[in-house]
Amino acid sequence: MEVLKNYINGSWVASKESGTVDVLNPATQEVLGKVPYGKNTAADVESAVESAAKALDEWRNVPVMRRVQPLYKLKQLLEDHLDELGRLITLECGKSLAESKAEIQRGIENVETACATPMLMQSEFSENVASGIDEFMIRQPVGICACVAPFNFPGMIPFWFLPYALACGNSFILKPSEKVPLTMMKVFELIDQLDLPKGLVNLVHGGKDSVDALLDHPQVKAISFVGSTPVARYIYQRGTANGKRVQAQGGAKNPVLVMPDADLEMTAKIIADSVYGCAGQRCLAASNIITIGDKKGTITEALLEAAKSKTTGFGLDEGIEMGPVITPESKRRIESLIAKGIGEGANLLLDGRNATISGYEKGNFIKPTILENVALEGEIIKTEIFGPVMSLIHMAAIDEAIDFVNRNNFGNMACLFTTSGLNARTFRNQANAGNIGINIGVAAPMAQFPFSGWNDSFFGDLHGQGRHAIEFFTQTKVVIERWPQEWTRKF
Ligand code: NAD
Repeated sequence: MEVLKNYINGSWVASKESGTVDVLNPATQEVLGKVPYGKNTAADVESAVESAAKALDEWRNVPVMRRVQPLYKLKQLLEDHLDELGRLITLECGKSLAESKAEIQRGIENVETACATPMLMQSEFSENVASGIDEFMIRQPVGICACVAPFNFPGMIPFWFLPYALACGNSFILKPSEKVPLTMMKVFELIDQLDLPKGLVNLVHGGKDSVDALLDHPQVKAISFVGSTPVARYIYQRGTANGKRVQAQGGAKNPVLVMPDADLEMTAKIIADSVYGCAGQRCLAASNIITIGDKKGTITEALLEAAKSKTTGFGLDEGIEMGPVITPESKRRIESLIAKGIGEGANLLLDGRNATISGYEKGNFIKPTILENVALEGEIIKTEIFGPVMSLIHMAAIDEAIDFVNRNNFGNMACLFTTSGLNARTFRNQANAGNIGINIGVAAPMAQFPFSGWNDSFFGDLHGQGRHAIEFFTQTKVVIERWPQEWTRKF
């Protein structure tokens, strides 16, 4: 099987690294491709930086209205290839085809938002800040920007950064996850059809070696990272120590509160979609579900029914709502965390371990699982499981539940289900998380808003998407001008 190529200087080129890792279909273990992986991927980064540097000189002075024109074409190409891209995501990542297409749609929305860059990049001007002196601010590109992406949204996450970086006048290097590189290979075939300077956008493969090369290269000025918290923290520390601007989005453990006044049926369905969608492999997956005042267990019953109703299988098959988790190691890890939760005293209300799907016996399947009464002082309550596991906790009052939310080390998302405006207002004011959902299961900001993780879910200050992206991908320059009358020649 052919080894995947890098896209550097406008061409597909072989990696300088001979070592590879396999890209596997998580439903079957079929090898879909071989991706370069090892020390010499650092040399690929060097070539990508060289070509990105050359392209930058020309691109940064192209008028912004012209810089966004290729993005309109990219939107069209992505829409035209939606089905093909969706199938690729399902093949390498496992989620259902509907979920795969939805993530491409979210990516397209970022391309559309970045088309507003001519307006978003406009700046400020103050006349006469002192006698005869004007002052204004301009935004200029930062230079070569790089993105390191995770496995769980191969078709969306690079678009949180790429279109904005280009529209702002930067050049770009993408390092996709070695587990799911095929979706971006296809996207780069589409990017190849755009009218862009050679070398402006590059793709390099690999793992830690290529990432470290990006973090250490003096010509790379900005790093956008999305992945697990330990790696996000490392990226932030090493990148900023090397003088780069870094935005590093990390992991999560998202709490969802259910008030007794919430609409039961709708709430249970939305929460089950959030916990089990993408097999729980979403940084915005609901994870700790806290019922409040559910004395008769009616919410518990509705959640159990909603969880049981999920159909698990190969994501390209008709009617499948939940696919496999990404690797056999991941399946083992999740199953051992379920066992640990039981060991810590939780009641296993629904057991999705040892799931086999007919025709896909080698797949990494786990069916919906519910751990009830998870120990508040244990490990599971604060560990990101990243699998289809709901931790169910019962509390008596909203204050107690908000205190619990605010003891969370992460802060990616917190949601509340209620029909009381006052409860909703109190919660949005007090919850210690950057993305809040009220009667929403996955509080994922649309492209025009920043993806606002807090605490250990984010390292940096400017988030991905929207205006934050414009600020991250530009540096401000303030100009103070005086034109004295007596220095001006009279004609
Ligand atoms: P990961 O941290 O293992 O890998 C992410 C990227 O970092 C990959 O490209 C990988 O090659 C690279 N990498 C891995 N280890 C590295 C190291 N030691 N040094 C340098 N680079 C390294 O994450 P993953 O398993 O691909 O993705 C799942 C995680 O991402 C979850 O924790 C999830 O919550 C998180 N995530 C967060 C968000 C968010 O917006 N906050 C979005 C999606 C996923």
